[in-house]
Amino acid sequence: MKIQIEDKEFDLMLEYDQIKKRTRLLGIQLNVDYEDKVPVFIGVLNGSFLFMADLIKEIDISCELAFVKVSSYHGNDTSSGIVRELIGLDIDLKNRDVIIVEDIVDTGLTLIHILDTLKKLEPASINVCSLLLKPGSLQEDIEEITYVGFEIPNEFVVGYGLDYKGLGRNLKDIYRASTSPSET
Ligand code: 5GP
Repeated sequence: MKIQIEDKEFDLMLEYDQIKKRTRLLGIQLNVDYEDKVPVFIGVLNGSFLFMADLIKEIDISCELAFVKVSSYHGNDTSSGIVRELIGLDIDLKNRDVIIVEDIVDTGLTLIHILDTLKKLEPASINVCSLLLKPGSLQEDIEEITYVGFEIPNEFVVGYGLDYKGLGRNLKDIYRASTSPSET
């Protein structure tokens, strides 16, 4: 099935049914791994809101929930010219078991920044649960990525929380950008 968002065409990649089944399995694994703990799930906005909502419904151990947002703006005071700040955290993470919930890990640079920031708050442990991972795009190994829904090729995806030009987050399924004949 094809859909059009603005100037781009997308093909169906993962149906909500598959996402739900995989999420259920991730939940089972987390319930076992954190059986005797009270972890804090931290969702990274905006993309993770649907995944977090579905994942947390599969968690039956006691847990807390928080959301953060990575704000980035272009400045001239770092070598990359991009300054990132983690905003919105309202729970003390000292000695807590933290699970970062991500929609997608692409180059991993955003996640590395989040991990560096959260580690300074001295949690007991940090693991990452990402719905999607693009292994071909990852710039360095991130050992905290313990739970992954689906490994996908290095393609742009949209839907189930992920946007293209601000649109498409409300789509139930996940779509990949169609390759135009000139790109193949
Ligand atoms: P990073 O490259 O730092 O791992 O990814 C940074 C952010 O880029 C992700 O959190 C996500 O918001 C966005 N991103 C990366 N790949 C995709 C993609 O295929 N589709 C969409 N919609 N966003 C993506």
